Amino acid sequence: MIDVKLKDGSSLQVEQGSTVAEVAKQISMGLYRNAVGGLVDGEVADLRQPLERDCSLEILTFEDAAGKRVFWHTASHVLAQAVQHLFPGVKFAIGPAIDGGFYYDFDVEKPFTTEDLEKIEAEMKKIAKEALPLERFELDPAEAKELMADQPYKLELIEEHAGKGEKISFFKQGDFTDLCAGPHLLDTSKVKAVKLTSATGAYWRGDSDKAMLCRVYGTAFPKASLLEEHLALLEEAKKRDHRKLGKELELFTLLDEGPGFPFFLPKGMVLKNTLIDYWREIHHKAGYQEISTPIILSRTLWERSGHWGHYKDNMYTTVIDEQDFAIKPMNCPGGMLVYKTQPHSYRDLPMRVGELGLVHRHELSGALHGLMRVRCFTQDDAHIFMTSEQIKDEIKGVIRLIDEVYSLFGFPYKIELSTMPEDHMGSDEDWERATNGLKEAMEELGREYTINEGDGAFYGPKLDFHLVDAIGRTWQCGTIQLDMQMPERFELEYTGEDGQKHRPVMIHRVVFGSIERFIGILIEHFAGAFPTWLAPVQVKIVPISEKFHDYAQQLQQQLDSQGIRVEGDYRAEKMGYKIREAQLQKIPYMLVVGEKEQSEGNVSVRSRSEGDLGAMSVEAFTDMVRAKIATKERD
Ligand SMILES: [Zn+2]
Ligand SMILES: [Zn+2]
Repeated sequence: MIDVKLKDGSSLQVEQGSTVAEVAKQISMGLYRNAVGGLVDGEVADLRQPLERDCSLEILTFEDAAGKRVFWHTASHVLAQAVQHLFPGVKFAIGPAIDGGFYYDFDVEKPFTTEDLEKIEAEMKKIAKEALPLERFELDPAEAKELMADQPYKLELIEEHAGKGEKISFFKQGDFTDLCAGPHLLDTSKVKAVKLTSATGAYWRGDSDKAMLCRVYGTAFPKASLLEEHLALLEEAKKRDHRKLGKELELFTLLDEGPGFPFFLPKGMVLKNTLIDYWREIHHKAGYQEISTPIILSRTLWERSGHWGHYKDNMYTTVIDEQDFAIKPMNCPGGMLVYKTQPHSYRDLPMRVGELGLVHRHELSGALHGLMRVRCFTQDDAHIFMTSEQIKDEIKGVIRLIDEVYSLFGFPYKIELSTMPEDHMGSDEDWERATNGLKEAMEELGREYTINEGDGAFYGPKLDFHLVDAIGRTWQCGTIQLDMQMPERFELEYTGEDGQKHRPVMIHRVVFGSIERFIGILIEHFAGAFPTWLAPVQVKIVPISEKFHDYAQQLQQQLDSQGIRVEGDYRAEKMGYKIREAQLQKIPYMLVVGEKEQSEGNVSVRSRSEGDLGAMSVEAFTDMVRAKIATKERD
């Protein structure tokens, strides 16, 4: 018998070799029916996995993020099997679970049409009804290659695994076998509420020099009602897509000349600068200093920081005067050099040093996505140098700052604490002290958090902040990362009260994460209808006819001089058209001016959120808008 420690802290004695599924059954039939996998000693495991020794076990259901991945990954196999039935001869590439569903890449002669997707979906439902059991088996590389002889992409993958001396594992369901490490559901019956959402082109391995494949996206749920809910959310997300709105609102663009390098248009730049002004304002208030370090720095620096050894594939490099240089993927090493330009005393600490640094990181072209996944972005970085006694207070300060920012935009958020990974630098005592500092800070602030056991960086534990947007999607933005390694590598010092040299402790932290990505999130969160303080154009003046252009222009100047971002629409278009366009631009206020307004010297105000506000004196309107801007009120 072995001892299995369950999630609720209790223990269960089971026969050695019992599978995860069998233990789930022993706990309760209800749990067994919902089980999609397990977490054995923190590792995701297949339901078929036998438990050979004492361990901890958590049964995963679709409710768990890891459980969803097992479910969706199984759905991708069902998709591939359906394609095999309907389109014999198709070559199979890969089919992972992703956020919100799954995809599978196929090498097909002509891309799948909408009608094809409907047929495939119907076939998937048939396969689900058949409740085909999934069976796992392993082969030697040579046998594996024989089995996949007519599947060139699988052969390439087998070759790679074989190179690592691994056995090759497969999953088989009915007449379909796929190269796969799992884990998977026990059979196909659960994957019945399924929807194929789209098909697009995708390069094999995201590499534009390789074959163009047809990627079919889909999602699946254990219940039809959950699928419906999800599809409604997708529909809403489509309307809010920042790439679509970014174009309509003339905020930014992406051009072939700069793949993954966004261009900001004048209105987008107003948005970006307004956010940056706000960032500076709150950081100044919180006692931060600001620096700016170079974008290109020498190879020796990146070797010292460890990036050249561990991160080089993601870095762009160049040669200057026959020496290697790299374009910074992170601001930290530059920040370390700035710290070292002067000697420091304990009286200087904590030092909070911020940098809005433009960083470049190589992403595969297939992974790029609007502003959300780019190759260059502005990180709202800061490094805090402190004594270990200051950890807790500094963490509290950063949490408060992050809270202030997310609350302003109306984002609820969740905090995750990632603890010491197996492969780590520094002593267990250092880790414990740092981790406790994080925990105590959150407890003293009364914040709830979940723990990601063993998921910290190798140089220290971290807190991740996942914000929830207006339609319930979560985005990881803020992080607070304790670093016990970088100060060591760069031999950072301060003179203590005892007159001796000491190593400071360091935090890396971001609030927005990437300014550009945060803008993408804001566009989708507000569906382009930004709060007045953030709106690129705050007021649109629409004169009824040319007769009132002078009055409109005079108003425009007046508002402009009051610091309000205002535009006039002086085109010879119909009124209805101009009003509709201002509405589509989601401008917070529209002033319609004609005979009455001109003779009375006032304005007729239409508010985006409150509708017609009627006539108002220019002064009253200006005061109202200025107050909205000053308080950063959301409407
Ligand atoms: Zn698989
Ligand atoms: Zn850093």
